[in-house]
Amino acid sequence: MVADAQFVVRIPESIYAEMVAHIAASYPNEGCGALGSVDEQVVKNYPTANAAERPDDFSIISEADIVRIYNDIDEYDGDMIYYHSHPITEAYPSARDIEWAKRSGYLYIIFSHRFHPEPPYARVFKIDAAGTVTEGKIEQIA
Ligand SMILES: [Zn+2]
Repeated sequence: MVADAQFVVRIPESIYAEMVAHIAASYPNEGCGALGSVDEQVVKNYPTANAAERPDDFSIISEADIVRIYNDIDEYDGDMIYYHSHPITEAYPSARDIEWAKRSGYLYIIFSHRFHPEPPYARVFKIDAAGTVTEGKIEQIA
């Protein structure tokens, strides 16, 4: 265990509130979207529809949405963060999440809504090409 291996993602409170509202509106399905970040600080929120065949079981952003978001993030030379929710289970990457994350290389923010109707809470993970999961810290900023 190396304590300083932990990473931090800073999210403005207003964007975090938007994400929570989007996730809550998607319940009981998984909700999803992307964030644009610069130097691990989130600067923009892109809530999207869930294009998965079974949105109660998985979440996917459509190819068209991904291209639109990617092009926008490119404008300010940012990084994409993927976020989605687990309506019933813990905010931890599922085996399927890990398979997808290994290929994409994005940071993953996962919300759990298992205490619904309480608001969902979020955790953030880095998943490397070998599938190793590292948890970071979400810091809300004013
Ligand atoms: Zn998941």
